[in-house]
Amino acid sequence: MAVNIRFFGLGAVFALSLLVSAPITTAYAASAQKPETSTKASPFRAYLERLWPIAQAQGVSRETFSSAFNGLTPDQEVIDLTKKQSEFVKPIWEYLATAVSTNRLERGTKLATVNASTLDAIEQRFGVDREVILGVWGMETNFGGYTGGKDIIRSLATLASVGYRGTYFRDELVSALLILQQHHVARGDFKGSWAGAMGQTQFMPSSFQKFAVDFDGDGKKDIWTNVPDALASTANYLKLNGWQAGLPWGFEVVIPHGFDYHVNHASFDEWSRQGVRTADGKAMPRSGEANLFFPAGADGPAFLVTNNYDVIKRYNNSDAYALGVAMLGDRLYGSSPLHASWPVEDPILGLQQRIELQQALTALGYDVGEPNGRIGSRTREAIRDFQDKRGLRPDGYAGRRVLEALRVR
Ligand code: CA
Repeated sequence: MAVNIRFFGLGAVFALSLLVSAPITTAYAASAQKPETSTKASPFRAYLERLWPIAQAQGVSRETFSSAFNGLTPDQEVIDLTKKQSEFVKPIWEYLATAVSTNRLERGTKLATVNASTLDAIEQRFGVDREVILGVWGMETNFGGYTGGKDIIRSLATLASVGYRGTYFRDELVSALLILQQHHVARGDFKGSWAGAMGQTQFMPSSFQKFAVDFDGDGKKDIWTNVPDALASTANYLKLNGWQAGLPWGFEVVIPHGFDYHVNHASFDEWSRQGVRTADGKAMPRSGEANLFFPAGADGPAFLVTNNYDVIKRYNNSDAYALGVAMLGDRLYGSSPLHASWPVEDPILGLQQRIELQQALTALGYDVGEPNGRIGSRTREAIRDFQDKRGLRPDGYAGRRVLEALRVR
């Protein structure tokens, strides 16, 4: 039977008929008799009833199943949140500014020190750099600052019962039941985000099943309150997703003038031959390959990124996220902020800078009209011509790069 979000609100009568015709646990039957909850909860209970044989086939015991759902009702707030998933995407530079905010860096630096010996041991066992582990920890929960207060079973059961994203949440729910059954966490402490991500580094239950480790050896994989367990689990996740020890995720680079932008994958040696340099002046790795990556176009920062960067994206398939993890981790261990500017016109070039840019172009003989700070077509044409002569990518963009080039003429 197809279950959808509309059914959730409308199918009470139909679901009640299912309750009558099939056995159900005492807890469900008892609360179904309460008129106030039955209207809303019955389709949910009918769903749980259909779930039981599926869970049982995966090894969930009746005892686990019954106690997990004892007295549980669906969480309307979770349903509402599925509808609020915004498609609005903020610019990557705003996202990254949050990722490496001063507060986050301060908190992360303290926790890096507190957990230094744990991180030594994790690096030794898994071959995953502490930078990326802390980057994930910081990005996911601000280093354990907020891990989510939603009941995992209730959230997942709510999402599964309405068929949100096919069978994905049903499978996560069964994994969650197995986690309970294995006594890694108490029922009352089994909390996380509304969509089922759990603990210090926000594992989904299926990821927990595959990757969580008991690093402190107390018999429980406690990614909620035990930092060694949580961080080692993250390292294990990255390792088993292909993290290569000794390979950087990547780094910011400077592209030479006249660069052939058609090339996007090469060995580090080849990048060096093409004139690509690390932004911080350090040597390129001696071996390995990397992709050239411009998160905000050729006028924004450029990066060489390796397979390890792609491994970070296995955690969350977003370049903004992966760069956030990578940059946060690097900053915690002393790297400088990005050298290149993001191509954000207004926040970077203010009125006085735009006037300065027009005055500089005028001084070079371009006709941009009265320098008034308004970037019109004549100013853009002048910028384009100037960029082309300077070997810059000629896009007419009135950003800081052009202004800096004009200042050093
Ligand atoms: Ca443990």
